[in-house]
Amino acid sequence: MRHIAIIGSGPAGYYTAEACQKQFGDQVSIDIIDRLPVPYGLIRFGVAPDHQSIKAVSQRYEQVSLNPNVRFVGNITVGGEVTVAELIALYDAVILATGAPVDRPLGIPGGDLPGVIGSAAFVGWYNGHPDFAGLNPPLDCEGAVVIGNGNVALDVTRILAKAPAEFVGSDIVAHAFEALGNSAIRRVTMVGRRGPHEMQMTPKELGELGHLQRAVPHVDPADLPPVEADAALEPGQRKAMGHLRGFVSLAQDKEVAIDFDFFAKPIAIEGDGRVERLIVERTRPIGDGQVEGTGETYAIPCGLVVSCIGYRTPPIPGVPYDESAGRFANSEGRVPVDGGNLYAVGWARRGPTGTIGTNRPDGYKIAEEIAADHPAPANKAGGKGLDVLLAERGADKVSFADWQKIEAAETARARDGAPREKFVVVADMLAARGA
Ligand code: NAP
Repeated sequence: MRHIAIIGSGPAGYYTAEACQKQFGDQVSIDIIDRLPVPYGLIRFGVAPDHQSIKAVSQRYEQVSLNPNVRFVGNITVGGEVTVAELIALYDAVILATGAPVDRPLGIPGGDLPGVIGSAAFVGWYNGHPDFAGLNPPLDCEGAVVIGNGNVALDVTRILAKAPAEFVGSDIVAHAFEALGNSAIRRVTMVGRRGPHEMQMTPKELGELGHLQRAVPHVDPADLPPVEADAALEPGQRKAMGHLRGFVSLAQDKEVAIDFDFFAKPIAIEGDGRVERLIVERTRPIGDGQVEGTGETYAIPCGLVVSCIGYRTPPIPGVPYDESAGRFANSEGRVPVDGGNLYAVGWARRGPTGTIGTNRPDGYKIAEEIAADHPAPANKAGGKGLDVLLAERGADKVSFADWQKIEAAETARARDGAPREKFVVVADMLAARGA
C-alpha cells in the first residue's frame, strides 16, 4: 500500500486526493490533514457567501472523501501536533496544499492603523473563519476604500455594497450579516494603481455590480482607453471592459456609490488613532500596461480600508521556503528535502493565481510526479503511524463522519433561506460532533 499525506483540505488538497485515487486505484491510502475541524478551505472560507454555485464544488470533494481509501484528519496542526519531518518518515509522499491564507502587507505609512484590514481577514470575517470571527471591522463610517483591482477586491466591494435582502440564499455568517445590515457605508472606492485594461476581474461578476439593489457603480469616462484599444484584449477582459463602459452611463440614483478610481497608487494612510483617509498618487500609463507616478496626490476620506493585494503561504518549520515569492521553494511542485517525497500544489506551489479549477490539473500533475519519482511504495507506517503519534500527544482529531455531524448541525440552525449557519468557534465545531 502507498501512503500519501495531503496537508490542507481546500481545492488543491482535494483535487490532488482525487488525482491520487485515479493514479493509484485501491493501492493507495490518503490522509487529508487540516488544522481546522471542518474541510474545504478556500471553498468554505474564501469563496464569497453570495456565490453558492461556486461553493457547490465541495460536493465533488465530498465524493472523494466518501471513498474508503481517503481519511479526513481534521483539527490537527502540522508544525504543531505533528511535524513535516515526522510525516515525511511516515508516508511515501507528503503534499503541501496549504494555500495562501496570509495577507501581503501594504507596506505604506499608516498601513497598521486600526481600520486597515487585509482581505484574508475581512473575507475570513464574513465567511466565519475562526481566526477572524472577532474582527469587528469598522462599518460606522460613510466611506470605505478597497485597494486592488482583482476578483477579491470585487467580492469585498460587492459584499460592502449589498442590501440585506440580497444576502438571502447566501451563507454569510450571522455576525457579518447583522453588522453589514447596520453599516453606515455609502461610498466604496475601489482603488487601482493601473488602468481599466489591467483589471483582473471575472466579467460575469463585474457585471453583477451594475444590478445591485441599493448600489450603483461609477466610472469616470476619462479613465477609459479608446474603445478600439479593447480589440487587443483577450475575450474575458474585453467583456469586462464592456461592463465598465456600460457603468459610465448608469444613473447615480442609489443609496450607495461604488467608485472606480483607476491610476491611483496608495502611498499613505492617515488618521488620528484610526483610518481617516487614504492618500494616493495619480499615475499615468507609460505603455505595456505599466504606469508611473505623476507627483499629484489627493486624499480619499474613509474609515475602513480593505487591502486586496494578494496573499502569501505561511512557512512551516523544516520546509524550504521562497521568501521573495511568499510560497514553498519548489521545482515543478517538488520541494527539495532528503528522501525526495515532499511536494507542493495549488497556491502553496505557484502563488495565489488562477481559479478553483486551475488546481485540478495541478493535482493530477503531482500524482504523476509521485508515480514517476517513487514507482514502488516503501512499506511505510502511513495513517496508522500517525494515529499512534497523535494519540501519544493527546490530539483530538476530527474524522469525515464527525464533519458530517458538524455540517448537519450547521444546516439545522440556518436562518430562513440560507443553506447553513456556520460555527465560527472551533470549540463549537467540536461540540457539534456530539458524543
Ligand atoms: P489579483 O488578481 O492578483 O489582484 C491583486 C490586485 O492588487 C491587483 O489589481 C494588483 O495591481 C493590486 N496590487 C498588488 N499590490 C498592490 C499595491 N502594493 N498597491 C496597490 N495595489 C496593489 O489577486 P486577488 O484579487 O487577491 O485574487 C487572487 C486569485 O483568486 C486570483 O487568481 C483571482 O482571480 C482568484 N479569485 C477568483 C474569484 C472568482 O473567480 N470568483 C474570486 C476571488 C478570487 P497590479 O495589477 O497593478 O499588480
